[in-house]
Amino acid sequence: MQLNYAEWVCPQCKTKNRETCNSWMYDSPIRQCKACRSEYLDRRWREVAIDGFDPRSNNAPLYAKVALVLLAIALVCGIMIYFQYARGYYSIKIIAVGAGSVLIAIACGINALRIKLGFQAKDNDKYMAESKARLSDPQYVEKLRKYGYKV
Ligand SMILES: [Zn+2]
Repeated sequence: MQLNYAEWVCPQCKTKNRETCNSWMYDSPIRQCKACRSEYLDRRWREVAIDGFDPRSNNAPLYAKVALVLLAIALVCGIMIYFQYARGYYSIKIIAVGAGSVLIAIACGINALRIKLGFQAKDNDKYMAESKARLSDPQYVEKLRKYGYKV
């Protein structure tokens, strides 16, 4: 899942930076501006060896629940469309809500499955290894300490 973007405005030169990130923003919180190369802290990023994983990333029941609620909404929409269609008309809004609910429900279902089947744990292992690799650099650790991290 590399389809997410993080955006920020550089505090030094006010350039708007944009870059891809993983779903949970696991990476170094010390960011570098692409325009002026100045470094600064962005706490939105999680250094997982210090900050830990996002609790949502392992919450399969939550995703399953959201998927079920959305499926229920889609079912209601489906029933409404069915009765409308029987009377010879249909509302494009209800179809859009129903179709949207199904799509998001599928995405949540896939997420729940990924967690259940251990794929998320595998990803997390990878992120943890990357985080530990960064922290094995004493200069990097020193920088984090300066920014107030307890390493
Ligand atoms: Zn800058």
